[in-house]
Amino acid sequence: MRWRIGDVTITKVVELEATGGTRFILPQATREAASQIKWMAPHFMDEEGRLKMSIHALVIETPSGRRMVVDTCLGNDKQGREVPAWNNFQGTFLRDLEAAGFKRDSIDTVMCTHLHVDHVGWNTMLVDGKWVPTFPKARYLMGRDEFDYWRAQHDKGEREEFVAIFDDSVRPVFEAGLVDLVDTNHRVCDEVSFVPTLGHTPGHVSIKISSNGEEALITGDFIHHPCQMAHPEWAATVDYDQKASTQTRRDVFSSLAGKPTLVIGTHFAGPTAGRVVRDGDAFRLDV
Ligand SMILES: [Zn+2]
Repeated sequence: MRWRIGDVTITKVVELEATGGTRFILPQATREAASQIKWMAPHFMDEEGRLKMSIHALVIETPSGRRMVVDTCLGNDKQGREVPAWNNFQGTFLRDLEAAGFKRDSIDTVMCTHLHVDHVGWNTMLVDGKWVPTFPKARYLMGRDEFDYWRAQHDKGEREEFVAIFDDSVRPVFEAGLVDLVDTNHRVCDEVSFVPTLGHTPGHVSIKISSNGEEALITGDFIHHPCQMAHPEWAATVDYDQKASTQTRRDVFSSLAGKPTLVIGTHFAGPTAGRVVRDGDAFRLDV
């Protein structure tokens, strides 16, 4: 799946799609409640009101030849994950990335919207029992606040999963000297910049793409599913600050409503992208 934004191309590479089983992340989106949001079928929920979600990476190609990956999914071979199915996961992501035209060593930039388990996995890969950078020729851009927060969580050692994620997916690229710690409004190049969308994590960013008068926004996880356009107050259980994440959703949707900006959801299934329009006193995604 590909989109054109002016002279920029964005390609989706899927690691995993699933229907249902989303209550652990969006508890208010019961089947009954979701079924009321008719526009979500068939792309974002099934006939029974079960939500469809996706874990994918987005590859941005600019006219100057840059190739950047936004968020690196779960990765293979990882251990110590709290979601059982994500332990020792064996997917075809790297093969699919290459089949889409992107060899690992052709990627010059990796951007992590935040440092959660499903956004940093393919930062590294297991080679001869060691975690090595998957994209050895890339600069890995991470928010400074985000990095500091997760390093502190790691050092506290209170949650095993946080220690594991930092050690197998963040630390190896940092120690290889590939990480640039940047501000939440960092400009990557003419067409690509970070936008702070705080609340889900302390340093969470979205990625804005502008080219030839066209615009797109790659969400990251300030929104997990389009149902949160109908209900911005449906915060995710994993939001660090649910009040702040709700405010971020309201602010971003209000500013985008009715505009031609293409919103590309980091966990939106199927068509994955659309435009925000007002719908009563909330919003909806027009695909
Ligand atoms: Zn996520």
